[in-house]
Amino acid sequence: MKALKYHGAWELELREVPDLHVVGPDDVVVEIRFCGICGTDVGIVSGSYPVAVPGVTIGHEAAGIVVEVGPEVTNVEVGDRVVIDPTPYCGTCRMCRTGRTNHCVNKAGTESGVSYDGAFASRYRTTSSFVYRLPDHVTLEQATLTEPLSCVLGGVHQIHPPTLAANTFVFGAGPLGLLYTWALWLQGLTPVVVERSPERLKFAAGCLPENVEVHCDLQAAREGRFRDAKAPIDIAVDTTSVLLEELYPQIACGGTYLSVGLKSRQFSLDGMLLADRSLSVLGSIDSRSGSFQESFHLIVSGRIPVEKLVSHVLPLEEYHSGFAEIGCDIRARNMAPIVSPSCKVLLAPEGAR
Ligand SMILES: [Zn+2]
Ligand SMILES: [Zn+2]
Repeated sequence: MKALKYHGAWELELREVPDLHVVGPDDVVVEIRFCGICGTDVGIVSGSYPVAVPGVTIGHEAAGIVVEVGPEVTNVEVGDRVVIDPTPYCGTCRMCRTGRTNHCVNKAGTESGVSYDGAFASRYRTTSSFVYRLPDHVTLEQATLTEPLSCVLGGVHQIHPPTLAANTFVFGAGPLGLLYTWALWLQGLTPVVVERSPERLKFAAGCLPENVEVHCDLQAAREGRFRDAKAPIDIAVDTTSVLLEELYPQIACGGTYLSVGLKSRQFSLDGMLLADRSLSVLGSIDSRSGSFQESFHLIVSGRIPVEKLVSHVLPLEEYHSGFAEIGCDIRARNMAPIVSPSCKVLLAPEGAR
C-alpha cells in the first residue's frame, strides 16, 4: 500500500509499505478514499509546528471503506462507508475524565498523522469507537470535513456571546475560518469574514451563509458590514493566530478573542485591560468530548453544506500540487502566496474521481 511519510521539515516521501491488517479484536481497517490537507499538516511539513515523529504517515481528516474488522467489532461491517475520528484518547487520565479529551496525557503514540500512522495512505487502522458509518446521502468527500468541523465546535462552545447582535469577526477564510463562520451563524450570530488573499476571498464568497459578507481587511469589514469605521469588535475568531496584539485593544468590553491557529508568536499585552474591560482571550485545539458526534450530526443533517468548501480533489501522488494550492511549496521548501482560488484540498489514495 501507499503511504505519505514524513521524515522532517520539507521531507515527504510517498512510498510502498506493507498493507495494514486487523491486529486486535476491536480493530477496524479502512481503505482511505479521501483525506483533507489541514493547517496542522502544513505546519508539520513546513517545520513551523514540529510535533510529528519522523517516519510517521501524516494525514488525519479522512473517510473511506471498511475492508477488515476484528471479531469483536459490531458497529461497522466490511463494505461500510465510514468517517474516521482521528483523535483517540485514553478515557482514564485526569484530562479525559474532566471532559478535556483533546488534552489526553496518554496521546503519545496514538495521535493520527503525528505519532501514529495517519491517513494519507491506502489504508488506516483504528478501533471501532473511532469510526462512524455514513448514511447513503452523505458523500465520502463531505465526511472528510467532520474532523475540522469538530475542532471548530470545540472552539465555538467556548464563546459565550453577550448578545446575538454581537459584532462578530472571523479572520481568515480558509477551511477553519469558513467552518467557524457557519457554526457561529448556526448559533444565531452573523459573522463578517476578513480575508487578505484575493484568491481565498474569491472562493469564500461562493460558500458563505445568508447575509454573511467577506471583506479584504478589518476596516473594509467595519465600513461594509456595519457602516461604521469604528464598529466595536465583540467577538474575534482569529484563524491566522497572529492578530492578538493588533486586535486586543479593539475588543469591546465583555468581548472575546479566540485564537485557533498554530503559529508561534510573542505578544505584549496590557494586562490591566483584561480585567477593566472584562475581556476573554481564548485558545482552542482539536475535538473536545462529544464534538465529533455533534459535527457528524451537522453534516448528516445538511445544516452545514461542507461540500462547498472542497476546492480541489487530487490523487495522492500529486500531493506536491495539493500542498502548493494552499501556499506550501514543498519543492521550493518555502511558504508561497496562494495563486488560485482554494479552500479545502483533498488527496485521494485511490485516485480522484
Ligand atoms: Zn485537521
Ligand atoms: Zn486521557
